[in-house]
Amino acid sequence: MVKVISISYGEVALKGNNRSYFVNKLIKQIKRLVKDYQDTNVYQDRSKIFIEANEADIDEIVKEVKKIFGIVLISICYRVEKDMDNLRQCAIYAMNDLKSKREVNTFKVEAKRADKKFPINSMEVERDLGGVVLKNVDNIKVDVHNPDIYLYVEVRDYCYVFTEKIKAYGGLPVGTNGKGILLLSGGIDSPVAGFMMSKRGLKIDCVHYHSYPFTSERAEEKVMSLAKIMAQYCGNLRIHSVNILEIQKSINEHCPESQMTILSRRFMMRIAERIALENGYDALITGESLGQVASQTIKGINATNASINIPVLRPLIGMDKTDIIDIAQDIKTFETSILPYEDCCSVFSPKHPVTRPKLQVIEESEAKLNVEELIDNAIKNKRVEVIRSI
Ligand code: ATP
Ligand code: MG
Repeated sequence: MVKVISISYGEVALKGNNRSYFVNKLIKQIKRLVKDYQDTNVYQDRSKIFIEANEADIDEIVKEVKKIFGIVLISICYRVEKDMDNLRQCAIYAMNDLKSKREVNTFKVEAKRADKKFPINSMEVERDLGGVVLKNVDNIKVDVHNPDIYLYVEVRDYCYVFTEKIKAYGGLPVGTNGKGILLLSGGIDSPVAGFMMSKRGLKIDCVHYHSYPFTSERAEEKVMSLAKIMAQYCGNLRIHSVNILEIQKSINEHCPESQMTILSRRFMMRIAERIALENGYDALITGESLGQVASQTIKGINATNASINIPVLRPLIGMDKTDIIDIAQDIKTFETSILPYEDCCSVFSPKHPVTRPKLQVIEESEAKLNVEELIDNAIKNKRVEVIRSI
């Protein structure tokens, strides 16, 4: 009897002919993750993926594997050769083991027979193992309606017994759905937006805008720390850092103060679009949420969006801040996001920003600026850093 980790991949399985493509991507990512642990092996057994590993590493591997998108459920199983007697021993062992760790008074066996050639059908397996556990384990009863625990049994190429299903994030493996560029600030929202689009299989990279030396090096380090956390889910991240101080100065000099935020946003979008087109990305991603701040009214978003043609994904658009914070806490970006370093937007932040900008008025202001030259210079001076997931 050996302990192994089982992985179910849900939605990935629904993809018809593409299925093997998705599954292979998933397996590749799992293999990459476990290669740092000794004596591991990844294999498939009839529509599930399994990881063999040293018992001492199993809990940690489960914690890490949970971060791979495309995985729906994870279990720690006991594996035995395919045989009813082995299964009986295993069921007794699994139940005793669980009872030594927590209180369990009632159970139900739930069997699945992926190998239809196995001579005993699922219902018979359930009845047999239920009886064996009742007879050999002290202080336990069957409850078919509301048991304390389920004893799951699966007959595949091997037989597996487990008692817990750990929920993972689901979604699709990163890199199975094109490439996008995330506008990553140091705030709470944009890391969550990147996480959510990665979860749908998008491979993301980031652009970050700063106003150095008005914004500090520590503010930059904060963004890199955020990227480091995100990379655990999203894979390696390329961060394009762009200094927009000259752009902000120019807006400040030539345009009404109230339009500062919208105008600098339009530059951010244009620069991101340029980087996207030059590097083969299919979309931009922002952490905008309708109505959250003055620049995120629908008119504000429209005025910003009108500066570009590339599609913009806004996964947080209909979400409340509290729900966004819940995700930020879950993925562990929150604590870093709330560190109090200044953002480039705070440098020339207007006291009374326009909340219902008229596009024509914004475009008239912008006509006073050397838009293309400002963008060219900003892009020429950008720095690129690669943040590795492992
Ligand atoms: P966040 O928490 O993501 O900073 P926010 O609620 O502070 O969002 P805004 O500051 O209005 O909202 O920014 C809206 C979006 O614009 C951000 O989610 C992000 O995608 C992008 N953005 C804002 N500032 C920057 C920046 N300095 N660098 C890159 N992208 C930015
Ligand atoms: Mg912000």
